[in-house]
Amino acid sequence: MPRLLRLAPAILLVAAAPAPPPAVPRGFFPDGAVAEAKAEREFRAIPDPTAAREAMRQLSAVPHHIGSPGGAKNAEWILARFKEWGLDAHIETFDVLFPTPKERIVELVEPVKFRAALAEPPLKEDPTSGQTALQLPTYNAYSVDGEVTAPLVYVNYGVPDDYEKLERMGVDVRGKIVIARYGGGWRGIKPKVAAEKGAVGCIIYSDPRDDGYFEGEVYPRGPFRPDQGVQRGSVADMPIYSGDPLTPGIGATKGAKRLDRKDAQTITKIPVLPISYGDAKPLLSALEGPTAPDTWRGALPITYRVGPGPAKVHLKLVFDWNLVPANDVIAKIEGSVWPDEWVVRGNHHDAWVNGAEDPVSGLVALLEEARAYGALVERGWRPRRTIVLCAWDGEEQGLLGSTEWAETHADELRARAVAYINSDSNVRGFLDAGGSHSLESVVNGSASEVEDPQKKISVLARARLRQIGNAAKPEERKAARDRAGMRIEALGSGSDFTPFLQHLGIASLNIGFGGEDDGGIYHSIYDSFAWYTHFADTDFVYARSLAQAGGTMTLRLANADILPLDFAAAAQAIAGYVKEVSDLADTRRRETEEQNLQIEENLPWAVADPRKPFVAPKAEPPVPHFDFAPLQNASDSLTAAAGAYARAFDAAFAADAPRMSPERIQALNATLRGFERSLTSEAGLPGRPWYRHFIYAPGAYTGYGVKTLPAVREALEQKRWKDVNPAAAATGAVIEKAAEQVRTAAKQLGGN
Ligand SMILES: [Zn+2]
Repeated sequence: MPRLLRLAPAILLVAAAPAPPPAVPRGFFPDGAVAEAKAEREFRAIPDPTAAREAMRQLSAVPHHIGSPGGAKNAEWILARFKEWGLDAHIETFDVLFPTPKERIVELVEPVKFRAALAEPPLKEDPTSGQTALQLPTYNAYSVDGEVTAPLVYVNYGVPDDYEKLERMGVDVRGKIVIARYGGGWRGIKPKVAAEKGAVGCIIYSDPRDDGYFEGEVYPRGPFRPDQGVQRGSVADMPIYSGDPLTPGIGATKGAKRLDRKDAQTITKIPVLPISYGDAKPLLSALEGPTAPDTWRGALPITYRVGPGPAKVHLKLVFDWNLVPANDVIAKIEGSVWPDEWVVRGNHHDAWVNGAEDPVSGLVALLEEARAYGALVERGWRPRRTIVLCAWDGEEQGLLGSTEWAETHADELRARAVAYINSDSNVRGFLDAGGSHSLESVVNGSASEVEDPQKKISVLARARLRQIGNAAKPEERKAARDRAGMRIEALGSGSDFTPFLQHLGIASLNIGFGGEDDGGIYHSIYDSFAWYTHFADTDFVYARSLAQAGGTMTLRLANADILPLDFAAAAQAIAGYVKEVSDLADTRRRETEEQNLQIEENLPWAVADPRKPFVAPKAEPPVPHFDFAPLQNASDSLTAAAGAYARAFDAAFAADAPRMSPERIQALNATLRGFERSLTSEAGLPGRPWYRHFIYAPGAYTGYGVKTLPAVREALEQKRWKDVNPAAAATGAVIEKAAEQVRTAAKQLGGN
């Protein structure tokens, strides 16, 4: 999971009182509501910071990446805890491709010689940092093997916009090795775009401006990245598909038909390696050529220049391409009323190295939830639906364990899964929640029951006030203030929710606390128990909050008579996205007109400094008008259906309403589970059929960042004008299908 770029905390002078939470959770008839309130109260009293701390100490004691002895031992330890707490648990194993480096060389061969260390030194203040023999070297998983020697070019974050700027500067990366800094999106985008532009190699480094000394004191004095700290990480082309590169769309079971490695679309086309800023400095300071644009400059004490050369770099990478076991630990608590309806809750257990923050800080909350369910079961309680708890392996390489499990159990999950709730790294601060907007009221209702351990107001109140404070525009601020709860964000990718939400169409959430414990140890040997207990949620009170929040959401979904889906929130979010893409088309049209006018006026030439390289921009064909009517009509249809459903829902829960029969309830819940599925299409997104959700997808050129209405938005952003109308029609058809699903649900509820 990425450490998200966090916005500066807003200063709030007057705290507006949020609307009180509903007295009874949505979707419960009176008897159920009483039992639910009791179960929740008991549940939330159980998670314990001390237990979470002890579990972290245990699970981060040694490096535990996929395929390692430490990883296997942790999976067994988690299994033993699940069993000790009375849960029905097992380990499910897949065989996945996991390259590890045999040889890594980065050296400057001209104009001076320098060989990169490519190693993170142990620190005496951090006992586990010295477990050198067990640590994975610093590298990017799923880089192809290769050896190249070529002039170097600095490409900023290495995203498509950066290459447009390079073109204006007259710099061509064909045949060159590019050096990009971390940040600006999924790291796998950097080698992908570099290869598309003709580069032959890619180096990624952590600039001190982004998570090093520019941000604060470096480790061990402070939490930020030291000179030789390196961010490991996957560079798979995850926007094509997640999971094992050799088994797209199917589970990586023993006999599964595997692709030849050369045919795996998600392995990079050029060799790529991450380095520290200590190693990057000699390379960058040997560059000449144009001075880098202002926004490209980092915090090294050098003049950032773009190249190419005279710095010339030799990059050599050789990997062992082994299949290793991915050990998912799965526990079930069978439902007492609807055992074939599942609420799935997961967090990964594998790390790049010791991984105290990523992922153990989230995992220990999941374990405290599991312990609490076990305690309730021992007192005679049972969930009404089945709860499935999952500790995933191989998330770091590309959501391997979760994707292979979701693909293996696709039919069961499509039929049975009510929702998937994910968490990952967890630190102090604000509740972040992203996911399916149909689950927004579950998030809000649950978050209103959990107290923020520092401010002693509900985590919902705190998150809502932060959204008001962070609003970029007055209209957004007003909307945030008018809302009783918080708005959840749309999800791109970056953790294990992707196969559930975007491949299978299961309503999903990603939750966690954050915003107050920034640092620079991500994916390094310094993400350790020592770091976490000095610089993050040091007393583990937010581990308890996450267990309480995740557990309350899980319990409400597991026990509600009628699944508490919020179609009004979904319809409102989708209407907003429809407006955004239509505004985007207008903006693109105006920008193109303006740019063409400036070219006609010879403006770019006239204002350019003649001593600097200048490449004149080319005029572009005018942006056509598009037909967004299918989108707008479908969105209106969904809004109307959501209104009808809300009226029927209120009527069904009115005091004098006749009690619904169990058969009707079961049929209605099946329709409700199908809502998220109705937002997908079997054919999938254009050019990447594994991704089937037509509302949320990771951007093909952002990776973590979401593209809502991706078929339409990406056609516009990539200037594929002829694809826009068909994409709008296809997306409109999907939204219309969802509206039909809601109308059916409203009828089943007894409304009209
Ligand atoms: Zn993670």
